[in-house]
Amino acid sequence: MNPITHHPTEETLAAFASGTLDEGRSVVVAVHASLCPACNGKTRRYEAIGGVLLDQTSPAAMKPDALQKVLGLIDTNLPAPIATPEEPLDRYQLGKWRWVWPGVRQRSISVPVVSNIKVFMLKAEPGIQLPHHKHTGYEWTCVLEGAFEHQFGRYGPGDFDEADETLEHKPTICQGATCVCIVALQGNIKFQSGWGRMIQPLLRL
Ligand SMILES: [Zn+2]
Repeated sequence: MNPITHHPTEETLAAFASGTLDEGRSVVVAVHASLCPACNGKTRRYEAIGGVLLDQTSPAAMKPDALQKVLGLIDTNLPAPIATPEEPLDRYQLGKWRWVWPGVRQRSISVPVVSNIKVFMLKAEPGIQLPHHKHTGYEWTCVLEGAFEHQFGRYGPGDFDEADETLEHKPTICQGATCVCIVALQGNIKFQSGWGRMIQPLLRL
């Protein structure tokens, strides 16, 4: 596997670890963490820091050795790493793969829809160009297999793509392998071309 080059931001990892990120986006971040030892380590440390701070009812910060003590506590309280990409999906039902576009299939993941965020997997054939589109909200993606590319680079297995409503993009699936991704999408996708707009009701995204 090529090295992972696209990661969630520190803010995203901290929000994920503290449980303040919504469930839909958390699933995609957790899948990335399962494939990325660096982010897995960071989220575990953020979680441990949160736990230690909550447990510190005494003013330990007043004592000279407080920092060492807290760091020691953090290291002994590290939660278990997320071992596999399947682990974050364990508690959800995966739907059947269904056709959404020539060369593109989708399967639903039964994450409860909160704040209009839906989670699903996409599977697209090599060479497919997804139509030029804009978002009305977030579109967070983690690649499981294969790769796609757009104006910000190439995204292979484990890579994490955080797009928001300001972004217009046109991803192309790289040659050589079918691309499978997990996606958390908020709101709707708006296609910029007539053909995309025509087919939009079929996608029900
Ligand atoms: Zn990472």
